[in-house]
Amino acid sequence: NSKRSGRGLYSFFDTSLNTVSIQDLGLEQRMPSAIANNEFILHYQPIIRLTDFRVVGLEALIRWQHPDYHLVYPSDFIKTAEDTDLITTLDNWVLEAACQQIVKWRSAGLKVVPVAVNVSPVLLKSKKYPDLFFETLSRNQLLPENITIEVTRTAFIEGKNNVIENLEIFLSKGVRISLDNFGNGNGNGISNLNRISSLPIRTLKIDRRFIQKIRNNFNDNSIILSTIVLAKKLNLTVVATGIETHEQLVNLKVAGCDQVQGYFFSRPVPERQIREFLISPLRSIPA
Ligand code: C2E
Ligand code: MG
Ligand code: MG
Repeated sequence: NSKRSGRGLYSFFDTSLNTVSIQDLGLEQRMPSAIANNEFILHYQPIIRLTDFRVVGLEALIRWQHPDYHLVYPSDFIKTAEDTDLITTLDNWVLEAACQQIVKWRSAGLKVVPVAVNVSPVLLKSKKYPDLFFETLSRNQLLPENITIEVTRTAFIEGKNNVIENLEIFLSKGVRISLDNFGNGNGNGISNLNRISSLPIRTLKIDRRFIQKIRNNFNDNSIILSTIVLAKKLNLTVVATGIETHEQLVNLKVAGCDQVQGYFFSRPVPERQIREFLISPLRSIPA
C-alpha cells in the first residue's frame, strides 16, 4: 500500500492487520460483554515537535481485539457505540486505561508526555463528565496536564449543552483541549478559524485530508500554509496530522506548524512499541 510506505523512520511497525466489519460479524450485540471481557486495547501514536523532533505527546486510539478475529478498528464500532450510549463506557474505559499506562511508563523511568484521548460529544456534554475525569486522574495520582482531550466540531453544533462549560472547567484546571479533524471538508478551514478562536480550545489538529493536498509546488499550498499562519496569529498550537511524506513535513515546517503526527513517523502501535519513542529523541530526519 503506497500510502503506508512513506519514508518513515520507524517503518518496521508496518504490520498489516485486516479489518472486519462489526456488522458482518454481528458483533454489535457483543460490545457490552467485550468491555467486561477486556477485549478493547489502546494503540498509541507519537506527536512530534517540529523544532527539535522530540515526542511531545501521544494519541491513544482504541481497537477491539476480539478473540476470534483480527483487530477491529474504531471506524467499525464508534458510531454504533454512540448510537447506543455505550460510548460513555468506552471513553471512560479509554481514560482509565491511558492513566494506568502513564503510571506504568512513569514507574519504568520513561519520559512522561501528555496522552490525548478522543472524547465523544455524547460524553463531553454530560454535566458529570468533569468530576468523573478528575476523579480518574487523582485516583491514578496524575495531574491535569497528563491528559489532553480531543474534541470534534460536532460537539459544538448540537445546540445548547454543557460542552463549552465543561471545556472551560477543563482548561481552567490545566487540561489541554485540542480540536480534532480541522479542515476535513465539513466547512472551509479559514472561515472557521475566527469562530474557533472564541472557543475554549488552544490546539488545532489539522485533518489529514487537508494535509494530503500539500504539493511540491509552493503556490498550490498557499491555502494550507496561510491557514497555519492565521491559526498561529490566533495563538493556537497547530498540529498537522496524517503526515506521510517528507515533502509534507518540509512545507509544514516552513509554514511554522508546531507539531506533526502521522505514518511518516509511526503508525499507532501497541504500548510495547511506543516505549522506544519515550526513551530518546528521534534521530535526525533524512533529507
Ligand atoms: P482521529 O482522532 O482523527 O485519529 C486519527 C486517525 O488517523 C487514526 O485512525 C489514525 O490511525 C489515523 N492516522 C494517523 N496517521 C495517519 C497517516 O499518516 N495516514 C493515514 N491515512 N491515517 C493516519 P483510527 O485509529 O482508525 O481512528 C479513527 C477515529 O476513531 C479517530 O480519528 C477518532 O475519531 C475515533 N476514535 C479512536 N479512538 C477513539 C476513542 O477512544 N474514543 C472515541 N470517541 N473515538 C475514538
Ligand atoms: Mg483524535
Ligand atoms: Mg483526526
